[in-house]
Amino acid sequence: MAEEKRIGLFLCNCGGSLDAHLDLKRLKEYSQGLLQVVYVEELRTFCLPEDSQRIASIIKKENLSGVVLAGCPHRNSESIASAIARESNLNQHLITFAPIREHCAWAYPQRETATLKAEKMLASAVARNILLHPLEEEELPAEKSVLIIGGGIGGIQTALELSRMGFGAIILEKKPHLGGLMKGTAAPFDSVTQPLELISSRIETATKDPGIDILTSSELIKLEGEPGRFQAHIKQKGKKKTITAGAIVAAAGYLVSFPKESYGFPLSERVITQSQLSAILADEKKTKALLGGDKGKGKNLIFILGMGGESTPLTTAFALKVSSLIKEKYNWNIFIIYNNIKVAGEGLEALFRQCRSQGIILLRYDESRPGFTVSKEKIDIRLSGLLTSLEKEEEVTLPGHLMVVEERIEPEPDFENLAQLLGINVDPQGFLQKDNPHLFPIATNKAGVFVMGSCHHPMLLPFIMEEAAATALHIAEQLSEGKIRVFKERAMVDKGKCTLCLTCIRLCPHNAIFYDRAAVISEALCQGCGVCASECPAEAIEIRNYTTHQLMAEIGVSRKAS
Ligand code: SF4
Ligand code: SF4
Repeated sequence: MAEEKRIGLFLCNCGGSLDAHLDLKRLKEYSQGLLQVVYVEELRTFCLPEDSQRIASIIKKENLSGVVLAGCPHRNSESIASAIARESNLNQHLITFAPIREHCAWAYPQRETATLKAEKMLASAVARNILLHPLEEEELPAEKSVLIIGGGIGGIQTALELSRMGFGAIILEKKPHLGGLMKGTAAPFDSVTQPLELISSRIETATKDPGIDILTSSELIKLEGEPGRFQAHIKQKGKKKTITAGAIVAAAGYLVSFPKESYGFPLSERVITQSQLSAILADEKKTKALLGGDKGKGKNLIFILGMGGESTPLTTAFALKVSSLIKEKYNWNIFIIYNNIKVAGEGLEALFRQCRSQGIILLRYDESRPGFTVSKEKIDIRLSGLLTSLEKEEEVTLPGHLMVVEERIEPEPDFENLAQLLGINVDPQGFLQKDNPHLFPIATNKAGVFVMGSCHHPMLLPFIMEEAAATALHIAEQLSEGKIRVFKERAMVDKGKCTLCLTCIRLCPHNAIFYDRAAVISEALCQGCGVCASECPAEAIEIRNYTTHQLMAEIGVSRKAS
């Protein structure tokens, strides 16, 4: 017979605010009668250190082997639980939660109903706690080096940040040189910084850095292993080699293309892309030849946005910044024609206003798209439905002498293949997908593999630099001790029951299951989501502390109490 537990139950009054909604005195008495509960106390505020320290001291004093925290939900209290566990030496997985604040006190207007529901929740939480097992952590050796796929500004900056923190970084670049789209300025970069100077200085620093290995003309052909010790098989100029790395960062950039079908005419001397203008602006002679002298006198330079789909802050920033620079230096009339201007970036709204104050005319077209007549001398742009003081039906024709078109920012064609090699997902647009854009913006569905920069979303340069620092810091946190911590036996396969139907392998969203005569779960990759256990037709998988038995005990008590 299993040893009886000694459970402590702590009721939180949330700073004295729950009294009015819950009969805490009654809940205390009720809890004292629950099976294996040996200690009950009401505290004022769990989340204050004095209360969590008191819980830790009671655990030690009363020799408690399980704890139920009744108050706010798990998400709020997890950090409290880990602090209590650390201080009391009780395994954190033996601390459970009964969210009686949100589910009872705040959910019911009548105190009596809320208290009744809280009793049921306390009974359920205790019933589950009785059956919980400690979940142990294991330390596995980890390489303090990181493989970065992509040698553009994001990849280089991540490598520099990692090297600064004492990690080895290997940059894998498929082209013969580093720099990505920024090299040669053939890219619609926001010209907030000097892109050419920036990328050249970063390449020089990375090349001289002894902590950074640069492998150009190289590509990943296979990835094996787990976080802490991945084996990346690569091909460099036809030769194969294997690299061991503790983590992988995909910083693979993006592609720009001119969406000719959206405009209905080709590029020409009068119609150029943002990339082409960017390259021209990097060359003084070419810039003067195109824009200088009296070339712009009485002439219209048109930037057009939104024709090939939704604009991005990247292309909008280029149009605003570059038109402002040209207006300042050269004598052109400048128009920016847009459908939906994206100013979600540092300083972009101010730049928008600055453009207007410089005399740049910004015209917004609505649902009616502009029409174009292109001749050798000029491009006539027909605009209707302009959001100006003009009557909506009124059509205006604007003669353009030079037109700069926005390009479409697209995923690289090999992203699908790269994602498959890395075991990560692509999003509906084909970019590499992050795990959760709000909570884990650089993590992917696969532990130890990260995405940063514009390969997951077109990004402005300041954001790319911030993300490089965040990625390096996150990896440093995980690998700094040369070992990683994983949960032992969080998801377990009963090999005798497994019929090797492969269902779990196909469904695991974190690519954590392999097979070797039966399904095998990688402890380093498993995130404990439970998908495999719920889908296995042979019921061969169990998630520790979420077993059917434990969940049924929780539900069963709830029923009994009703
Ligand atoms: S789903 Fe179940 S039976 Fe099928 S391979 Fe996985 S563990 Fe084995
Ligand atoms: S619990 Fe199962 S499905 Fe979820 S990550 Fe672990 S192995 Fe994959």
